[in-house]
Amino acid sequence: MKIVSTVEELRIALPTNQTIGFVPTMGYLHEGHMSLVENARRENDVVVMSIFVNPTQFGPNEDLDRYPRDFERDEKLARDAGVDVLFYPTTETMYPLDMARVTVHHGADVLCGASRPGHFDGVLTIVSKLFNLVQPTRAYFGLKDAQQVALIEGYVRDYFVPVEIRRCPIIREETGLAKSSRNVYLSDVETVEASRIFSALTMAREALDTGQQVDEVKRQLTERLNEIPNSQIDYVELVDYPTLGAVSSDSTELLLAVAIQFERARLIDNVIWKKG
Ligand code: AMP
Repeated sequence: MKIVSTVEELRIALPTNQTIGFVPTMGYLHEGHMSLVENARRENDVVVMSIFVNPTQFGPNEDLDRYPRDFERDEKLARDAGVDVLFYPTTETMYPLDMARVTVHHGADVLCGASRPGHFDGVLTIVSKLFNLVQPTRAYFGLKDAQQVALIEGYVRDYFVPVEIRRCPIIREETGLAKSSRNVYLSDVETVEASRIFSALTMAREALDTGQQVDEVKRQLTERLNEIPNSQIDYVELVDYPTLGAVSSDSTELLLAVAIQFERARLIDNVIWKKG
């Protein structure tokens, strides 16, 4: 595995005339990230992973400074998973001029976009920079961040970016808790309680299967999430997927998405419900 941190080193390390599968991450790797690498390995000649905690997607009072980082551990995990090129740039490399950001209009004002203003501008900015540098054949994103996937797909379509976006399923603990770098901030008790998020989402999906109305499903889901002690609901939403607009009679896929604030970690999770 080649480890590179400058644009020049990356350009030298990238292959020509081979397919490139790209896995962008913020590091502190877990099985969720590894599943993206596995998919990328299967479908491409070469796998490139980036590790970069992107400052522009964090708000002023968010956890940029204390976001977990452990490059030595990540390097080993990436090598063992079969990553060929690991791009580990500095902030100065990624933001040489502090230039304008990509702005997202449609779909950035709901769910995490409503709670974290400017977050998706930061995400799209770094994703577009990384795509320009790596020029991947395919790029792999987890449905853990379903809104992010939808906005990146929209960006790629709208800007004619020559890359195929691959959606990957959410990897969970046995308890149902979605794997996340931020889970290290949960206490033991919170880790147990947080598994109720997925149970509540599963029950909501089952309620949709039995034909219950969206408003009623949302009410019950909210009630169940409210029962999780020492936590606060940031949002509970059911929206059309991947448009992220309001659910209508034409909707064939619904995103049930939640964000729950624990003492030191804000967790997001979701399920997608398909009609029929
Ligand atoms: P992050 O390092 O949190 O920015 O995540 C990097 C990529 O890994 C994103 O595409 C995430 O959606 C994906 N990812 C994070 N957690 C999971 C998970 N539990 N299952 C699947 N993909 C995940």
